[in-house]
Amino acid sequence: MSKAQDRIQVHTGDITKLDVDAIVNAANTSLLGGGGVDGAIHRAAGRELEFECRMLNGCNVGDAKITKGYKLPARHVIHTVGPVWQGGGKGEAGLLASCYRRSLELAVANDCRSVAFPAISTGVYRYPKDDAAKVAVYEVNDFIKHNVLPEIVVLCCFDEAMAKLYRRHLAILGEY
Ligand code: ADP
Repeated sequence: MSKAQDRIQVHTGDITKLDVDAIVNAANTSLLGGGGVDGAIHRAAGRELEFECRMLNGCNVGDAKITKGYKLPARHVIHTVGPVWQGGGKGEAGLLASCYRRSLELAVANDCRSVAFPAISTGVYRYPKDDAAKVAVYEVNDFIKHNVLPEIVVLCCFDEAMAKLYRRHLAILGEY
């Protein structure tokens, strides 16, 4: 049987281009769009995504909600709200882990075989990138160890520096 971390891929590029069952959006609590990856996803999906998001009544930090993907190659968008980094003493790690877990639970509930995540909270929300990479890798690995779906989880980053951090934490996992 293949190891859980063989189901985790690191990809550098634009998440809006990925042909997967679901891409995850690092949204804000309003779910009405914003900057960064959120803006890119809304631009690529078209206005219909915003119309569906309006019906959802927002989303709490650490939680996730799912919509269709509209003009995106991805069939679904899973909108999750990461924590704003406030120094680490405000439960940020638990909330970030919850974003990954809740998103993966929704992916399973919607039969998604492939899911791509951006580096949640590492942009305007200022979560330290290395710490965020560690949370992402450990949480995704723990989830897929206990679940058949999703078969593939893509950790999508915009720059090679972030990809390197993911690979380092995956390598550390591989030693166990
Ligand atoms: P947050 O508010 O959760 O910090 P941001 O959108 O500001 O969200 O940033 C999250 C991460 O997404 C950052 O690492 C940023 O480089 C990355 N990012 C921005 N646009 C894209 C994109 N089109 N595809 C993949 N990653 C992206």
